[in-house]
Amino acid sequence: MLSTLKQYFGYANFRAYQKEVIDQILDKRDCLAVMATGSGKSLCYQVPPLLLEKTAVVISPLISLMQDQVMSLKQRGIRAEFLGSAQTDGSVHTKAQTGHFHLLFMTPEKACSTPLSFWLKLLEAGICLFAVDEAHCISEWGHDFRVEYKQLYKLRDVLLEVPFVALTATATEKVRIDIINSLKMNNPYVAVGSFDRKNLFYGVKHFNRSLQFVDELVQEISKYARKAGSTIIYCTTIKDVEQIHKSLKEAGIKTGIYHGQMSSKAREESHRSFVRDELLVMVATIAFGMGIDKPNIRQVIHYGCPKSIESYYQESGRCGRDGIPSVCWLYYTRADFAKADFYCGGLRTENQRRAVMESLMAAQHYCSLTTCRRKFLLSYFGEKFSAEKCGNCDNCMVSKRERDMSKESFLLMSCIQSCEGNWGLNMPVDVLRGSRAKKILNAHFDKLPFHGLGKDYSSNWWKSLAYQLISHGYLMETFRDTYKFVRVSPKGKQYIQSARPDHQPALILPLTDEMVE
Ligand code: ADP
Ligand code: ZN
Repeated sequence: MLSTLKQYFGYANFRAYQKEVIDQILDKRDCLAVMATGSGKSLCYQVPPLLLEKTAVVISPLISLMQDQVMSLKQRGIRAEFLGSAQTDGSVHTKAQTGHFHLLFMTPEKACSTPLSFWLKLLEAGICLFAVDEAHCISEWGHDFRVEYKQLYKLRDVLLEVPFVALTATATEKVRIDIINSLKMNNPYVAVGSFDRKNLFYGVKHFNRSLQFVDELVQEISKYARKAGSTIIYCTTIKDVEQIHKSLKEAGIKTGIYHGQMSSKAREESHRSFVRDELLVMVATIAFGMGIDKPNIRQVIHYGCPKSIESYYQESGRCGRDGIPSVCWLYYTRADFAKADFYCGGLRTENQRRAVMESLMAAQHYCSLTTCRRKFLLSYFGEKFSAEKCGNCDNCMVSKRERDMSKESFLLMSCIQSCEGNWGLNMPVDVLRGSRAKKILNAHFDKLPFHGLGKDYSSNWWKSLAYQLISHGYLMETFRDTYKFVRVSPKGKQYIQSARPDHQPALILPLTDEMVE
């Protein structure tokens, strides 16, 4: 095994988990490998076909990704090919079914539409594994659900004795179970690597949308990029991509642009220049994604809150693959938290909408966090981080000023309780700020004793406090369809009960950026 590794890949040793997974595949056991991007998952399905001289079939969602892999495998002297619907060379098909290739790549659509006779011939010739890359696409709970992936289980009944190998970089417990069930895996060997990327710094900043802010951001980003190197800036809209791209160019930074509305040719060119270090910064939507195999990206900036923790982890994880310290900054505005409709638009099932809402709320939670961000991220993926502080995130490095916010918290919680959990955050905040808007008068909330008592603070100040109370478990955010509701949790109710209007038990909370602004 080691000599094969050396001969074809030039590596002296296997990395953590690679050998275990390969051993299980050789024993014909189904496997699920959940390992961080860059940890070397592909080797798990690349080695067995070389050892056994049988074909490994690999399913992947993106043709360009597969083509890149095929090219680099061929350069190593490995027989690899991509079999697509647009494959014009008929001999590939013929060769493939006689087991000529070590690695045969296909999209899920192609795999499901390939006739039974092909599979039977290939089975006879010898097929050593069926790999499903980016396996989280199978799950509606994943962040990148693809309907075609759901059909792959059909091949399970054809490829009876063949081990199925599912690989993904991001899968919560729920998604893992979904993958195993969807592919009808039989007592699979599950390898879960650590998600901790020690060389990455995580930080979050709040911002208010303005031209002046864009200028400041551009200054900051370009200063760091000039000093440290390649940067990706992810924006949530094409409009933002264009604006930031323009500002960076005006600041004299070699900047590329990438989004879904560009032609595929223009996108490829942009991608290539970035990988070749002809560009210092790439401003993109998340369409700039899978398959960026560039080891020396020094910072990934998110301009706007991402749609889920999974996608944030994956996108931010593109920096620092070479192990050198790199930074991940996330900039968010409150308005990002009201984008549920945007993300749920077009989703058919209740389940899909629920999944999107839950993901969005977890991402918001990450933004409002005042404790260690790494600990939060790792625990999201079911990994324990024993220390309280990692020492390499904004919350661990700069301790925020704290103060007793018992009075304000009591007021806010009581007001939310009076609104009986039928409203989002805007209503109680407007009541506290003394608004006489129609919806308030109609609900007679102007008669509440708290009406107007919170005039001294801005709405953002109150919302920031609310998010902290959510993050500390005093308030809960729930949702029905795409509407969010806030209510007082049992812990919050206990707090209210133990308080008197003129005296509340201490509740020390950090002052967030928005509270200081
Ligand atoms: P993943 O699919 O998990 O994102 P890849 O399979 O693309 O990761 O591997 C990431 C990088 O690590 C590649 O450049 C690969 O060549 C390298 N790599 C994989 N296994 C080893 C190993 N055993 N020793 C050294 N480098 C390795
Ligand atoms: Zn930390």
